[in-house]
Formats: sequence, C-alpha cells, structure tokens
Amino acid sequence: MMRLPRFDYRAPGTIDEAARILAGEGPRAMLLAGGTDLLPNMKRRQQVPQTLVALRGIAELHEMENGSGMCMGAGATLTEIVDNQVVKKNYPALWQAAVQVATPHLRNMGTLGGNICLDTRCTYYDQNYEWRRAIDFCMKKDGETCWVAPSSKRCLAVSSTDTAPALMALGASVRLVSTDGERTVSLDDLYANDGIHYITRKPNEILTKVELDDLTGWKSSYWKLRRRGSFDFPVLGAAVALKCAGDGTVEDARIVLGAVASRPLLCDEASSHLRGKTLSDSAIAEAAAMASKHAKPMDNTDFTLHWRKRVTQEFVTYALRDVRGDDMRTERRRIARHELE
Ligand SMILES: Cc1cc2nc3c(=O)[nH]c(=O)nc-3n(C[C@H](O)[C@H](O)[C@H](O)COP(=O)(O)OP(=O)(O)OC[C@H]3O[C@@H](n4cnc5c(N)ncnc54)[C@H](O)[C@@H]3O)c2cc1C
Ligand code: SF4
Repeated sequence: MMRLPRFDYRAPGTIDEAARILAGEGPRAMLLAGGTDLLPNMKRRQQVPQTLVALRGIAELHEMENGSGMCMGAGATLTEIVDNQVVKKNYPALWQAAVQVATPHLRNMGTLGGNICLDTRCTYYDQNYEWRRAIDFCMKKDGETCWVAPSSKRCLAVSSTDTAPALMALGASVRLVSTDGERTVSLDDLYANDGIHYITRKPNEILTKVELDDLTGWKSSYWKLRRRGSFDFPVLGAAVALKCAGDGTVEDARIVLGAVASRPLLCDEASSHLRGKTLSDSAIAEAAAMASKHAKPMDNTDFTLHWRKRVTQEFVTYALRDVRGDDMRTERRRIARHELE
C-alpha cells in the first residue's frame, strides 16, 4: 500500500489568508483542492510538499455568478459544473469536457481549478517511487534523462486536463491572486509547452475564478479519445467554438487540441481558415487537416502515437460537424465501441 508522506495541513477560511500562508511557506507549500490528483502524486512521491494549504473551506471559491457571461469559483466541483444548467446550455464544450472527467466520485471531489492546474502526465512519470527509481527516475522528478526523447532538453509530459482545451476554445480567462496583487490571464497565456513548467501561474498565486464572456450566438463542442469509456484520462481532446451569422457564415472560430503536447494547443491557422466560410464538408475537412498538423504526440501515453496523430483529424471533423448540427450518434457509438480504425 502506498502511504502519504508527512505534511502540515493548513485550512484557511479566506483567499487572503490562503495567500498569506502561501507567501510565508514559499515553495515548500502546495494548494490542495479536491486532492484527486495531488494526493495520489504525493503517494508516488512525484510531488512532496511539506505543507498543504486546503482550499475547500473558502466560501468565495465556490461562488457561481451568471449575468453577462459567467464567473465560476475555482473551488466549484466538476459535479457542480455538470449540474449547472447555464453551463450546459451556453457553454456545451465545457459541460461535455467536465462530464467526461474521471468518475462520478472523482468529479464530486475534483474541482475546476484543480483540473485547470492538473499536473502533466507521462508513462515514465506516473509510476510509484520504486518503479521510477528502477529506471533512475527522469528529468521531471529526481532524474536527469528524458526516457521518451533522451536528446530532449525539455520534458514532453502530456497536458491531460479535459476542461482546459474546452475553456480555451470558449475564450476563458482566469483570475490569479497573491499577496502581491491580482491579475487576469487568458487560458492561452496560462500554459507553456513544457512538461515541467507547464503553467505560468506563480507558486504564490491562487487561481480563484474562471471567467467566460457572454457567448450568445456561439456553438461549441468537445470530443475526447480515451481507452476506457467509463473513465480515463484523455489521450486526445478536440474542442471547437464557433460563431456563425444568420446565413451560416462563420464569423469567429477557435479550434483547440488537448493531450497532444504539454499544453492545450490553439490551432490559429485552422481557426482562421473557417472565418468567412460556411461549414461545408470541404471547409471542415481543410480546417481539420490543418489542425491535425499541430498534433505531435509522443510515445508516452496510451495508444500508438501514429494512430493518435491520424485520428486527430477525425476528432476535429466530428467536433465541427457537431456544431454544424449533424446527427453524431453513429460516430459517438463508434468511439465508445472502439470501432475507429
Ligand atoms: C482515476 C483517475 C482518473 C482521472 N481521470 C481524469 C480525466 O479523465 N480527465 C481529467 O482532466 N482529469 C482526470 N483525473 C484527474 C483529477 O481527478 C481531475 O483533473 C480533477 O479535476 C483535479 O481537481 P482537484 O480539485 O482534485 O485537484 P487537486 O488534486 O487538489 O490539485 C491538482 C493541482 O492543482 C493545484 N490547484 C488546485 N486548485 C488550485 C487553485 N485554486 N489555484 C492554484 N492551484 C490549484 C494543486 O496544487 C495541484 O497542483 C483523474 C484522476 C484519477 C485519480
Ligand atoms: S517526457 Fe521525459 S522527462 Fe518528461 S516525464 Fe516523460 S520521461 Fe520524464
């Protein structure tokens, strides 16, 4: 049985108090939300904070406001996101991403903020301490070599959050608070393509809110590839958000890929390709082909990398056809039954 290492537990009641504790403790502390990722990582000694600053008791982090747009507390559980009818109606890509995270039990504990800040994953890293010691560890923790690409100077662990690609397609931003002040950062600027330094959040900052604009007139969708349909981390995510004029011309578009790099990737060229066009089969096929060029999966997660690269185009096509209003039941069944070639 894997045991947690010893740690000090702090349970502040306000964001200010949490920020003061973080500032005082420095790098020895980490924030604990639902703990569904951090606690297993601690058991595997991938992350070994000496102090955990628990966010669960901070009421402000659970607030949900919707007026013009939506503001979601980072402490909202994924179940609360899934149960929220405004999210379901106005931001379907986020809803579809949240409902496919892990299992109902994990969604009851796991939070939106924790999902956005989720650690990157890799076959050589998500192992217990003894396993990792047997290969002399790796660059991401305790070692020097990257076993996926030994000549790489950078860790290539995979961004495995479901909600981040969806939120990025929806143009979300997050509020970060520390004792130094507050700042708002777009999801696109929150991430870096580096498996170790995958997030630009400073260690003393708390992600407090996720903000979404009023997206009246937009449609969105999230498609996920995973081994087990019941629960599994994504090995590919395709999120799209589109705004169309009354005659069906695309006015704005954002296509984002998840789990193909150390950060969610905004596919600019593919997104702009759709602007000014109607969503014809050929426009969709061209945009999907452009988007799939961004996918450079490595051999460090499930399925073969060549196959994951190849089906990227299909998944973007499905997401775009979904927002066009096609009946996608057959495609969903094929994915659930592993009938993709
Ligand atoms: C079996 C299993 C299956 C899973 N499947 C999926 C899946 O399919 N898709 C998926 O996306 N995830 C999956 N997860 C991972 C995890 O359950 C979710 O990502 C969950 O949303 C994490 O949220 P949490 O609140 O539990 O985060 P925690 O574990 O508490 O924290 C995760 C990280 O975020 C940081 N953090 C948390 N909140 C904040 C904040 N407010 N400000 C700054 N930093 C913060 C923590 O310090 C930590 O580094 C799975 C986990 C397990 C165990
Ligand atoms: S990509 Fe390389 S350095 Fe990063 S976790 Fe995997 S093996 Fe380690």
